[in-house]
Amino acid sequence: MSNNKWSDYINPSVKRIPPSGIRKFFDLAAEMEGVISLGVGEPDFVTPWHIREACVYSLNRGRTSYTSNQGLLELREEIAQYLGSQRVHYDPKKEVLVTVGVSEALDIALRTLIIPGDEVIIPTPCYVSYIPCTALAGGIPVTVQTSMEDNFRLTADKLEAVITPKSKVLLLCFPNNPTGAIMDRETLLQIAELVEKHDLLVIADEIYERLTYNGQHTCFASLPGMRDRTIILNGFSKAYAMTGWRLGYAAGHEDFIAAMNKIHQYTMLCAPITAQVAALEALRNGKSAVDKMVAQYNRRRRLVLHGFKEIGLTCFEPGGAFYAFPYVGDTGLTAAEFAENLLLEEKVAVVPGDVFGPGGEGCIRCSYASSVEDLTEAIKRMGRFIKHRGMKKVK
Ligand code: PMP
Repeated sequence: MSNNKWSDYINPSVKRIPPSGIRKFFDLAAEMEGVISLGVGEPDFVTPWHIREACVYSLNRGRTSYTSNQGLLELREEIAQYLGSQRVHYDPKKEVLVTVGVSEALDIALRTLIIPGDEVIIPTPCYVSYIPCTALAGGIPVTVQTSMEDNFRLTADKLEAVITPKSKVLLLCFPNNPTGAIMDRETLLQIAELVEKHDLLVIADEIYERLTYNGQHTCFASLPGMRDRTIILNGFSKAYAMTGWRLGYAAGHEDFIAAMNKIHQYTMLCAPITAQVAALEALRNGKSAVDKMVAQYNRRRRLVLHGFKEIGLTCFEPGGAFYAFPYVGDTGLTAAEFAENLLLEEKVAVVPGDVFGPGGEGCIRCSYASSVEDLTEAIKRMGRFIKHRGMKKVK
């Protein structure tokens, strides 16, 4: 018998990963009554009925089997057509892979590209999975901090400053979680030039691409020379309010997709057939439902931005996703103190910005995928909290 503790058996790279900073707040909020949560990154809408109905119909017809590893060909064809509308063309037979959410696509894209020791450049603040998934794949996360002054955009100068001979992958996420930032085409072109010059690959997480409010999203792979250097990740969770269905996809050069499919076939086998059937319906007939939800998010975005201004919080105007990222440092509290005390005193749950990596300090992430009533009440409570605390620095 060895004297090892059970935890001694655990892989050190798993042990090194800190628990999710978001979870802590959810757990605390879950124990309290009357909490308004602006904490979750999830649409408050239910999946549109015609999508649910397509799923029920397919179940009634007995479609309960595995599909091909890559996913239903009809769905891949529909995905390729959709990406074609963003001016980038893929062969649905070889260049599209249906996955269990963008989460799986991200994991297998990183595991496919990274050789241990490769550097992965991650603009921050960023989605909470990027740094742990990079580390688990053996990569070295190199963060590049965006800032409120740059509207949380990645600039070419900032990117170039962190590129080294070990840089291999640039992980882009625009529209961004947690800031809501979007990129303009000009800057993306400058970034594409650097990608080419330094022989980088790009994983472009475009899961919020349908949720933009000030003009059209530019698909990174559609930029000159970027198609074969980019793996696009996208999915159904956000645009179609389908988080629980667990469906996403990756598109890219056939060599990358074939390699990703090798991991996928042994770990997932395939994405669930019912979710794939629903996704097919979403792509074929879901446009007007998405447009309606986007209009609602935009209305709420305006409400929240106006509300923050009224209560004295500085907030950059997010152009996409459903997050606002106001600065709370003027209260004299850190973001974590602000979030914790706001929850305890006023029962509003938000996420402190530092859990999203460097650049998030001093800010809080507020999801406005909530009802107008809840958002109005949450802002009222935040205003009361700030008034009670007093602003250190008067703007
Ligand atoms: N990427 C980003 C930027 C996200 O915000 C999320 C969900 N919060 C995901 C990926 C995961 O999405 P999915 O539900 O498709 O796994």
